Amino acid sequence: MPRLRRAPHVHKFGGASLADSAAIRRAVDIIRTHRGEPTVVVVSAMAGVTDALLEVAHQAGSGDERALAALISQLRTRHSEAARDLLGSGRAGDTMLSHIAEAFEELEVVALKLRRRELTSRITDHVISRGERLSARIFAAALQGSGIKTEYVDAVEVIHSDGVFGQASPDFVATDRAAERALLPIIARGAVPVIPGFLSATPNNEVATLGRGGSDLTATLLARALGAQRISLWKDVPGLLTADPRVVPDARVISQLHSREAAELAYYGAKVLHPRALIPLAGRKIPIHVRPFDEPSSEGTEVSEQVAPGRFPVKALTAAVGQALITVTGNGMLGVPGIAARTFHALHTHRISVSLISQASSEHSICFSVPEALAIDARDSLLREFQGEISRREIDGVEVTPGMATLAVVGLGMHGTPGVAAGVFSALAKGGVNVVAIAQGSSELNISVVVAAADAAEAQRRIHAAFQLSRIAGGSVVQPERMEIVLLGFGQIGRVLSTLLSRVERPALSLNVAAVIDSSGFVFDPDGISSRRLASLAAQKRKGKPLAKLPSGVAATAEEALSHIAGYALTRPVLVDLTADDTAAALEQALTHGMDLVLANKRPLADRQAISNALWQTAKARGRRILHEATVGAGLPIIDTYHKLVESGDRVNRIEGLLSGTLGYVLSEVSDGVPFSRAVRAAMARGYTEPDPRDDLSGMDVARKALILARLLGYQGELTQSGVESLVPKWARALPLKEFLSRSEELDDGWKRRAAAAAAEKSVLRYVAAVTPSSIVVGVQAVPVTSPLAAIRGSDNQLVFVTDRYKANPLVITGPGAGAEVTAAGVLNDILRLAGA
Ligand code: ADP
Ligand code: ASP
Ligand code: MG
Repeated sequence: MPRLRRAPHVHKFGGASLADSAAIRRAVDIIRTHRGEPTVVVVSAMAGVTDALLEVAHQAGSGDERALAALISQLRTRHSEAARDLLGSGRAGDTMLSHIAEAFEELEVVALKLRRRELTSRITDHVISRGERLSARIFAAALQGSGIKTEYVDAVEVIHSDGVFGQASPDFVATDRAAERALLPIIARGAVPVIPGFLSATPNNEVATLGRGGSDLTATLLARALGAQRISLWKDVPGLLTADPRVVPDARVISQLHSREAAELAYYGAKVLHPRALIPLAGRKIPIHVRPFDEPSSEGTEVSEQVAPGRFPVKALTAAVGQALITVTGNGMLGVPGIAARTFHALHTHRISVSLISQASSEHSICFSVPEALAIDARDSLLREFQGEISRREIDGVEVTPGMATLAVVGLGMHGTPGVAAGVFSALAKGGVNVVAIAQGSSELNISVVVAAADAAEAQRRIHAAFQLSRIAGGSVVQPERMEIVLLGFGQIGRVLSTLLSRVERPALSLNVAAVIDSSGFVFDPDGISSRRLASLAAQKRKGKPLAKLPSGVAATAEEALSHIAGYALTRPVLVDLTADDTAAALEQALTHGMDLVLANKRPLADRQAISNALWQTAKARGRRILHEATVGAGLPIIDTYHKLVESGDRVNRIEGLLSGTLGYVLSEVSDGVPFSRAVRAAMARGYTEPDPRDDLSGMDVARKALILARLLGYQGELTQSGVESLVPKWARALPLKEFLSRSEELDDGWKRRAAAAAAEKSVLRYVAAVTPSSIVVGVQAVPVTSPLAAIRGSDNQLVFVTDRYKANPLVITGPGAGAEVTAAGVLNDILRLAGA
């Protein structure tokens, strides 16, 4: 037997990853990026093909020939099209097309014969085995076509089983031997074997399937036989999730799972893994990665022998629907040894596998769940077994309740953590879900409950919610409350904020930056990016390097970054928007993924009414919060004051004030006699302005803040250009910056006259924003020197609240309203407020 220099990597592509030629091409690319290592590929049938072939088998039996012909022809077209796209019209393509044609002609013949015969599992297996065989052949040819040495190896040459059709169990010894013999020489000569999943050889060398989803098992069997270094199962999900995402929309990726936990999930019905896929790996140190086909650089979920430090006693949950509960009751069972043993022996002999057993401590009854389809068989075999006891009335009877679901709550950390079961039951009770039976294994790895199938989805969402927020152990906080922060925008404010965050010292709160996103991409670490690493990222960013170009940076749009991040089990995630961009779409997405929002970015809330309303509505519908203190007056408590006034029963009728450091500075200089052009240059030199000072001089920034305040007061509507006075005349708007600056002296005279006119009236020029529930006015005003606004100089902000209570003597807030330090402080306050600290 040849020995390999490196252990191989077994890849399995699931059905969803093989939808069409484009998907197959991507799968081929994935293998190409791993070309440096010995590789084995297992493929499922193309998406939906197994179901379609099963339908062929059933239709054949029922005899609707037109429907049957249409089904077969659709399947043939799908395969032929994929083959033609991938292989072109050369020899490889032609060979494949005629192979496909033959396979379907043979299928037609089989279908014809079926009309006169009863459908058996043996024939069904024969029919559906085509799906995997075809996709594996197409895949192998495409891989070969991409320049990689490839060899198709049929499953019956490597996977051996007991030959139970439809549900074959692998024969490890025979498989180990055959796989080694068939595959090692291929791998040793640098070629990639491609094997159809799901199929096995019976002792008579017929084909028997390993049960639905069986390709996962093919992969683990081969990995075992070849002593693989690891297994990648490529699927349509970002990894193994805390629950089935179709049932629990905010299910999250678990980055690492112990193989016993994964086995438990698979066994109790999590569709993502074949129930017996982990058995071949018992005792072998071969990690499995459940990986997203859409994102080949991601490691997805690692399933291994490693025990992750137990932050979460409960890791995941799953449900098997279509279960029936069988109850054996009777007074005569009391203290009679062996009833349980005989019950399960009887079921075993009928190959009925029981998924949950619970025995009342009085031993008055035993109840267990089995798949609905087997319930009648199970009952009959028990009635036979206990014939004697029943006739003597020691056993009352055997009762079957269909329409049940078994939920399993799984996690190694449950062992020794008190209150987990209580948490499960109180979550269910709150949801009005009736628990029909319960069982907790002595390993405490799993708590199972039986509920009505109709309640299964609600039950899962309830349990998921109850354990997600690290409120484990029945409600008390066992760890410091963790909050995970995603920074959208990593410029100056982001850098200051990350320093501030690292200095927060609260024993009950742990703030972690999980990700930073910029316009190029993102850096993400579900365990939190250390403050040292953040500092080094910040240093690189300052040098002009985008995140995507940094080590572990990933190129992505904000939306892509968020959907990646949202896939992980982040605790109390908060998205902090520090950009100045139109981020409404990304924010919507963050809200739907269960994140709270903290905004320093004004744009989304100052966008069109429909857009900002939509954000608030989504937040409300999802029970999320949006805090945005830093959008107006940086760190000054303006929004907070507004809310406090309203909460205490006051009504705010008008807010007015100075909201721009740049305009405040320029106009107070001009009022002091400094030429406008010089004041603008000085504001630039002091760092008050945006890179192009016209962004501030146009008044738009103030107008956005005014709109946000007005909307707080109930203003419905848009910002109208006419309500905003720009200090940049029309002719100067489109000039290049340099030219604007060199020609800005032309503006000096006009401003000199305006300042003089104001002075004559004992007034000074200020750029004032005034909002009421029905109006917004933003522009230059001559304010009397006696007014509080006149006293403000330089870049400070001032806001005046006129309310029912504060009428004659309004409430005034003054202080620095710009700058990275104060803005970051405002953002931090919002984060702490969300944390409830
Ligand atoms: P494959 O393409 O490899 O056959 P499957 O379709 O069998 O993959 O498994 C992936 C599907 O399993 C997902 O699309 C998802 O809907 C479902 N699923 C159920 N429970 C989970 C879970 N806990 N984690 C991830 N996916 C799950
Ligand atoms: N194609 C088979 C199924 O749909 C096996 C698999 O996908 O793993 O169940
Ligand atoms: Mg599957």
